[in-house]
Amino acid sequence: MLYEKERQDVVDTCLFMMRENLVVGTAGNVSIRVGDHVIISPSGVDYETMTAEDVVVHDMAGNHVEGRLKPSSELPLHIAVYESTDAVAVTHNHAVASTALGLVVDEIPTSHYYSAMFGGVIRVAPYAEFGTDDLAVNVSKALEGRTGALMKNHGAITIGPTLKKAVDLLPILEYVCDIQLKAMATGAPIALLGEEQIESAVTGMKDYGKQPAK
Ligand code: 13P
Ligand code: ZN
Repeated sequence: MLYEKERQDVVDTCLFMMRENLVVGTAGNVSIRVGDHVIISPSGVDYETMTAEDVVVHDMAGNHVEGRLKPSSELPLHIAVYESTDAVAVTHNHAVASTALGLVVDEIPTSHYYSAMFGGVIRVAPYAEFGTDDLAVNVSKALEGRTGALMKNHGAITIGPTLKKAVDLLPILEYVCDIQLKAMATGAPIALLGEEQIESAVTGMKDYGKQPAK
């Protein structure tokens, strides 16, 4: 079997999203890119029973390479994101706060400096039906220069240079959205950061967590 480790990583990441309550049922999907190949979760398969063998391999043109099951319906989205960014992994969820906030804003108001972790103000991609090329285009645009975006009437997406880095952004994005929704619910004016403050935080975050090797 090709990409045994990557396939298991996809399964483990799906389980992580499930444990963290970032998905409901079989919502969400995960992929890793290796050269011309995309290793992606299968469509509509229960995360608890998903095995490495269930994970599918397609090429960047969408052609089937290996695996018995149908790939995620969002394969066109994952491919479009790989084409338009230098990402090596893509994670997509339907987390509650991320989805809810996307219904009421077109970008996430900068109430938390964590926006900087995503490369700046986080955009909300306009709605298009799941699995469509239109959705792939809208989301790729929203991800320009960013590592995360919301998808209107749908969920959220993050990307990264590794699968771990991509998926670790999902709970952070959910946290940022949750904070914003809670602040909005009070009806009180919300303290927002200015463009310069966010830009400065983007620079500040570049070295955050980088410790000397042991
Ligand atoms: P798949 O199960 O086909 O990956 O679809 C889930 C989803 O989140 C669609 O956007
Ligand atoms: Zn989805």
